Amino acid sequence: MSFILQGIGVSEGIAIGHAHLAAPAALEVMHYLIPKNQVDKEIARLDSAFAVVRTEFEALQQSVVDGHARAEFSAFLDLHLMILEDPTLSESTRSMIEQTHCNAEWAMTQQMQVLLAQFEEIEDAYLRERKADVVQVVERVLKAMLGHPGYLPIASKLTGDSILVAHDLSPADVMQYKQHQFIAFLTDLGSLTSHTAIVARSLNIPSIVALHHAHQLILENDCLIVDGTQGITIVNPDKYVLDEYRLRQGELQLERKKLQRIKSVAAVTLDGTPIDLYANIELPEDIEQVKESGATGIGLFRSEFLFLNRDDLPSEDEQFEAYHAVAVKMHKQPVVIRTFDLGADKSLKGSTQAAANPALGLRAIRLSLAEPQMFHTQLRAILRTSNYGEIRILVPMLSNVMEIDQTLYHIECAKQSLREEKIAFNEQIKVGGMIEIPAAALCLELFMRKLDFLSIGTNDLIQYTLAVDRIDDTVAHLYDPFHPAILWLVSHIIQTARRAKVPVSICGEMAGDKQFTRLLLGFGLQQFSMYPAQLLTVKNQILKSHLPDIIPLVNKIVKTDYPEKLAALLAKLND
Ligand code: PEP
Ligand code: MG
Repeated sequence: MSFILQGIGVSEGIAIGHAHLAAPAALEVMHYLIPKNQVDKEIARLDSAFAVVRTEFEALQQSVVDGHARAEFSAFLDLHLMILEDPTLSESTRSMIEQTHCNAEWAMTQQMQVLLAQFEEIEDAYLRERKADVVQVVERVLKAMLGHPGYLPIASKLTGDSILVAHDLSPADVMQYKQHQFIAFLTDLGSLTSHTAIVARSLNIPSIVALHHAHQLILENDCLIVDGTQGITIVNPDKYVLDEYRLRQGELQLERKKLQRIKSVAAVTLDGTPIDLYANIELPEDIEQVKESGATGIGLFRSEFLFLNRDDLPSEDEQFEAYHAVAVKMHKQPVVIRTFDLGADKSLKGSTQAAANPALGLRAIRLSLAEPQMFHTQLRAILRTSNYGEIRILVPMLSNVMEIDQTLYHIECAKQSLREEKIAFNEQIKVGGMIEIPAAALCLELFMRKLDFLSIGTNDLIQYTLAVDRIDDTVAHLYDPFHPAILWLVSHIIQTARRAKVPVSICGEMAGDKQFTRLLLGFGLQQFSMYPAQLLTVKNQILKSHLPDIIPLVNKIVKTDYPEKLAALLAKLND
């Protein structure tokens, strides 16, 4: 049966392929088939994961000494041990692998669903609530399996046209999928500027989030058309629709090819104003795409991605190597390394952080200041890299001047430790701050006195100004970059910084969206940083823009608060 699903397109383009479903457990796993002669090995892998978790529980039982806590904790561990030994999980998972030859993780999550359904039937509310314990135990076993050497949580036999369909993906999941050949991503949850969407965009493949029931409605191997521009997925399309989309896909490819012609053309407006177009990256591997885009610098290296999907922290040398690889490839062009913005949706593996409002919690610079050793290690790695390129330090989520003072103190300590060891670095390294909290935007003068440059994080600035969680799809319709408060704040930051002659850029998603290019030029922005795939489209817009024509219209737009009038003026601006 053919049907259409509408979501939020987060990465443009059209993909045509076949669905590959991620399992519905909280811990996403893949489904794939095991060769018949490997089934025993797969069962042994499952058994060994159960044994690991059993040993973990027993060790935990031993480790609790305090009297009262011991009784409570023991009861909790007994319950988890009981769930672990429940035949529905262990025996039935084994038989499912034997009978269907599926991988152990998949069988495990399927049996978890059976057990959860049984719990749902229980009348006693207390026992019914123990569903969460079932999920926790299963997650523990899955994690034990994921840690198994040589295992990749991904289908080994993906066809070249696989489209990943998941209920939800964390940014860390998407990072893992970077190495695999999916041609598109679909998720039930998510929003335009969630980190998951941002990483999906950096993969440069069509992606749609907030499809709500895609994971339930789409079946493994269904034929799919993913239109990332319109946010539409067509499931099992007929021949005519397929032909139509293949035609559109061809046209899009041609347009992209045409844009390649301006790759080495300098980004200058019609009236001769030069504009810097930089790229956002997550890992050193992204440099290939940066080079293809013609970016003249890295405006945002989201260094926290070096910390995800691993059990330990990256050492100073490992971080240095990653930063150094980027510095060398950029040949003295600017590379802005943002200190780790961990926390909220980008948590370290095994982190037990359970804040009620993680986006308002111990995130970014707050976490860095709370973990001085981890921060020191990173600062030393960045400073060492400054000897090999035009490296700058960018500090995320600053909300007050004290945080700047403390950060500068930590930078000075890191410098001093390098001096003592006679390790070379750039004493004059520039330190900038992200302006992504309204408080920072409103007292910009104070911030500018202490910082060498500013970078506007519009993704968070919108989230915090409008009080709309950027990863919650139920309020995604309220996440409005055109809100008069946002337009006013962004223009205020740019104009205040320009008056004070402090360099300012935008590295949030607004910078890579061509709908905003002229608006931002009109505000006075001369430095944009975006994911590489959008760079030529934005450059094309810049090449066709004449600032003296734009500025009066933009001044009008900032003063307009009626959405219809605003839309009309924007249409005129982008005409
Ligand atoms: C932003 O908030 O706009 C930004 C660039 O940072 P991130 O998206 O990583 O929070
Ligand atoms: Mg941010």
